[in-house]
Formats: sequence, structure tokens, C-alpha cells
Amino acid sequence: MNQFTVIGLGRFGYAASLELVRLGNSVLGVDTRDRLVRRAADHIHLATIADATDEHALKELGVQQSDAVLVAIGENLEASILCVLALKNLKAKQIWVKACSKAHHTILAKLGVDRIIHPEEEMGMRVAQNLNYPMVNQYMQLSTSQYVVEIEINTTSDGTTLGQLLRKTHGAICALMIYRNEEVHAHPDDEAVLHLGDCLVLSGALEALKKIAPKLKAS
Ligand code: ADP
Repeated sequence: MNQFTVIGLGRFGYAASLELVRLGNSVLGVDTRDRLVRRAADHIHLATIADATDEHALKELGVQQSDAVLVAIGENLEASILCVLALKNLKAKQIWVKACSKAHHTILAKLGVDRIIHPEEEMGMRVAQNLNYPMVNQYMQLSTSQYVVEIEINTTSDGTTLGQLLRKTHGAICALMIYRNEEVHAHPDDEAVLHLGDCLVLSGALEALKKIAPKLKAS
């Protein structure tokens, strides 16, 4: 079990906290607003009222022991930056920060945080990918060219074998799994028959994946 601290329990921080807990992690949530701390208290391991710009308060909470700290303070640029400076002084292991503007991004980059998140842009790109190619349910970029994608089998591919579907990629794609309802078939072979609605998880270079999902675009 990993230990995370989430600072700011607004929509973004609260959603991230719930998902971290669902994935089996321990979460310490911090916010200045009593209402949000109370809302989170029943769902995360510890929710507490504190001003995250106060280095002493953060130290008392032991945030420096967390495997990572997510700073999810929204539009309050000053609070976000002061919080990051305090976390840096405390030598927090990993600092991920939600940025709300270009200026915010520039300052965070200068401060050397480990990851800068732009939720609206990142989500916008993901939604555009889904709109552009609804068959691709999920995708994950591993490097500049390597992707893992989850593709839903449509009527055109219903009844074909995996080997037939992947033939045009000349072995450049690896099928990781097929899942159907709750059943998972890991490392399926070429003889596996695909059915309408099956989810197929593939990995490989974008160019090869495009042969199966032609409208797939790099993010
Ligand atoms: P969103 O809902 O889009 O995630 P918000 O701006 O509503 O964004 O959420 C940011 C949260 O950060 C708020 O709940 C706010 O109370 C909290 N916050 C702001 N400043 C501090 C601070 N100094 N210490 C702790 N929490 C803070």
C-alpha cells in the first residue's frame, strides 16, 4: 500500500483521493475548508483541516513521508506556489501539481516539481480522441511512439479471429488480453474468436495500431 497526500479537496483533489483509495492506497487529505474535509473524512484514511502554505503544519502532518504529494489547489496561484516551496523544503519525495495557467506552469517548472497537470487540456484531448474514434475506449502512451489501446470489437470484426484482425500489422502488434463481461483472457492466441462488444487490449507502435484503428492520432 502506498501513502499519498492530497492537498486541496475540491472536485479534482477529491476525485483523485477517492480513486487512490479505491486502488488500495492510503490517503491523507488536507484542505482549509471544514465542509470539504468532513465530506472526505468518511472515504479516505485521514482528512484534516490545515493551511498547506504553512510548512510547520505540513511537517506535523508528516507529508514528507508520503510516497507522493498531489497539490490540487485550484485557482489560488499564491497558495499553490507557497505550498510547493514548503514541500520542497520538507524534501517531499514526489510532488505533482495541478496548474491553472501558463504562468503557473512556468513557475512550477522552475521550482522543479515532478509532474505538472493540466486537467482540462488533458481531458479535452482524451475526449477528442474518443469522439474521433469511438471504437478506442482507452489508450495509454508509453513513449513517443508506443501505445497501449483498448479497442471494442464492432460488427465488422464480429466472428473473425484475432489472427485475421492483426494480419495487416505483420506481427508488429502484441495482443495483451481480451475481456468479455467479467472474463479476462490474457495473451490470447491467433485462433481466439472475437465477438461483438469484446474489449481487446493491444500494444505496439502507433503506426501499426493505426492499421487496425485508422483514425488513432498521437496525443
Ligand atoms: P477544483 O474544484 O477545480 O478542484 P477548487 O479551487 O475548488 O478546484 O479546489 C481547490 C481546493 O484547495 C479548495 O477546496 C480550497 O479550499 C483548497 N485550498 C486552497 N488553498 C489552500 C491552502 N492554503 N491549504 C489547503 N487547502 C487549500
